[in-house]
Amino acid sequence: MSQEPHLTFDFDALGSSAGHLIIPGGSDHDELRIPVSSINRGSGPCVLITAGCHGNELEGPVVAQRILEWLPVHLQRGRVIVVPVINPLALRSFTRNTPVDGLNLNRTFPGRRDGSITERTAYAICRLLLPAADVIFDLHSFGPLWNFPPSTTTIPIADAKLLSDTVRVAESFKLPMTMVWEHPEAPGMFDVIAHNGGKIFVCPEFGGGMVNPKDLDIYEAGVRNALIHLELIGGESEYPLYHEKRSGRLLETRRSSDELSSPVAGIFEPRCSVLDEVEAGDVVGRIYPLGDGASAMIEIRAPNKATVYAVRSSAYVDAQEQVVLFARDMTDHSLESLRLSVIPSA
Ligand SMILES: [Zn+2]
Repeated sequence: MSQEPHLTFDFDALGSSAGHLIIPGGSDHDELRIPVSSINRGSGPCVLITAGCHGNELEGPVVAQRILEWLPVHLQRGRVIVVPVINPLALRSFTRNTPVDGLNLNRTFPGRRDGSITERTAYAICRLLLPAADVIFDLHSFGPLWNFPPSTTTIPIADAKLLSDTVRVAESFKLPMTMVWEHPEAPGMFDVIAHNGGKIFVCPEFGGGMVNPKDLDIYEAGVRNALIHLELIGGESEYPLYHEKRSGRLLETRRSSDELSSPVAGIFEPRCSVLDEVEAGDVVGRIYPLGDGASAMIEIRAPNKATVYAVRSSAYVDAQEQVVLFARDMTDHSLESLRLSVIPSA
C-alpha cells in the first residue's frame, strides 16, 4: 500500500468548509471517504466532535448532524470539526465492531498505516484530525442492550490537572450524570491517545438505542452546554429535563466492585431502575436460569449502598454477563485514588 490518508479540502481554512477524510484502500477493503466539516473562526480552542465509532450506537451520528445545522451561524470563536460517522462500515451493518475485520475501532488507536480497514481508519484520525484538536467529544451511546441515563464519562487520567480539566468540561454538559469510570479495556482507546497528547477527551453515553426525539434533545443540549462553557458559542446553559428533574451529579464507578454479573445464563428480570438509591442486600434483579438441570430463580443483591447507574434491558443474559452497574458520589479523595490507579503511559 503506498497511498497516505488525506483530506480532500483546505482543512484549516477560515469559515465553513467540508470535504472527506480519505482512508486508503487495501487488500481487505476499497478506499473509504468519510465526510468531515470544519467551522473555523480563528483564535480560541478547537473542538473535534466525532460520532459513529460503534455502529450500533445511533444517537451520536444524529446529534452530530443536528449540531451542523446551527453551528455555522452560532460559532463565535475557535473552531469545531465535526465527523458524524467515523466508522461507516460498522454503522451500515448496525454492529459495534467493523464487520470487515471484526475490530472495535475504540480499541484500535493509534492504528496502523498498513493495517486492516479499522486500523487504517484509526491511523488516519490520529494523523489528520486529532493534531488540530484541543478538546474531543466522542459521541457514544450504550446501545440497545442497556438502560443508561444521559451521561458524560471519562476514564481516570494519570495527569491530575488534565483529569481535573476533563471532569470540569464533562460536567459542563449538565447531563444527569458525570462519571469517572475505571475502565477495564483502556489500551487502544481513543481516550488514551488523546490524553497522552494532553487533550481533554469527553465521551457522552446514552442508553436505550431508540433514537427518540426527547433523548436526542437532551444529548444535543449537552453538547451545546459544553460549547457555551468553552465560550465558543453564546447563550445560557441549562440542565436538560430528565425524569422530571433538572440536575447533575458527579459519580465514580469501579471495576468489579460496581459491576454485578449474572452467575448463570438465563432470563433477567430487573428489580431496579436507573438512578435508584439502593442499600447493601437490596434485591436489584432476578435470574431465571435456562439450560440443562436449570436451578430455581436466583436473586441478585446490591453489594453496597450505591446509585443504580445502568440496568440491562434485554431479557436473556449469558453467564457472567453484566446486568446492573452501580456508582457512588465522587469525592476529592476518590478522584485522587482513581488517578493513582492509572499506570502512566507514554
Ligand atoms: Zn460506544
